[in-house]
Amino acid sequence: MVLVAWAGVVFIQAQAPQPDGAGIEPGKLPVRWDTGGPKCMEMPEWQVHEYNEDLYILRESGCVHYEKPFLYLIFGKDKAMLMDTGAGTTELATFVDQVIARWLKRKGRQNIPLMVMHSHGHRDHIARDSQFSNRPGVEFVPAEIPAVQKAFGIATWPTSIGRIDLGERIIDVVPIPGHHPVGIGLYDRRTALFLPGDNVYPGRLYVTDWAAFAASTQRMVDFTQGRLISHMLGCHIEQSKTPYLEYTIGSIFQPDEHVLELTRGDLLALNEALKELGGTPKRLALANMTIYPILDDATRQEMQKNRLETETRQRQTMYAQPASTR
Ligand SMILES: [Zn+2]
Ligand SMILES: [Zn+2]
Repeated sequence: MVLVAWAGVVFIQAQAPQPDGAGIEPGKLPVRWDTGGPKCMEMPEWQVHEYNEDLYILRESGCVHYEKPFLYLIFGKDKAMLMDTGAGTTELATFVDQVIARWLKRKGRQNIPLMVMHSHGHRDHIARDSQFSNRPGVEFVPAEIPAVQKAFGIATWPTSIGRIDLGERIIDVVPIPGHHPVGIGLYDRRTALFLPGDNVYPGRLYVTDWAAFAASTQRMVDFTQGRLISHMLGCHIEQSKTPYLEYTIGSIFQPDEHVLELTRGDLLALNEALKELGGTPKRLALANMTIYPILDDATRQEMQKNRLETETRQRQTMYAQPASTR
């Protein structure tokens, strides 16, 4: 990877000498993802998207669970790694097995060990853990600090950077507590993708520890400084295509949702906003995401009420959603 940064100049994104792809392994993202509908009878539990032949993005259907998280399945030469196990009740392990079986067939291989780990420990990312945790041949890393430190060689939590080698594929692991105490971001050197979990995505960035969240955002800014970043890919989409406009919590069908991918510029915008707010937690809508502190019961109750209202309303029409649903 070519790093170009002149002394004293801080670039929004790293630069390469030629527009030749900069050695990044390319991949494709869809123009739109399935959400949950308009007809839930037609929706499979899981959608799989091939970013490239060694990296797959899974999305859970909103018909199953309103969180409709994104999961990542990354293949190295020696090991495959699944990030997260989704929300609600699904046959995730069966689905992942099918994807791995197809990959093995494509590569003419018999088997590959699987590691299952987590972006963080919220219940919409660990729901199907039990389908993997006691399975022979699966290396299961629970969303707990000592286990994460050990698996990725993170000397000091949360200030050290860890890494894992999946076999000709090194992934750097950046601790990012603040949304959840055991949050990590992944940097895949082959595709130059940065996966920041629930800390950065087009939607509501729930902050449960303000100081830790700000420090983690700065840590991501520092880590990505001078590194080539192709896309920042988080774990949810809650934003619409219209800037500053979200889909309410509890939405299962989002026909005009924002794309998944963000850039390092979005990360810098978030960092600047947090710096401006300083030590004062406050909800703040940016163009592509919203800083959303959850530090008191009143906020939790407001969210719960909104979720129940929206989800209940949309579930009533889940087999034929109206074109405009909000
Ligand atoms: Zn979360
Ligand atoms: Zn989440």
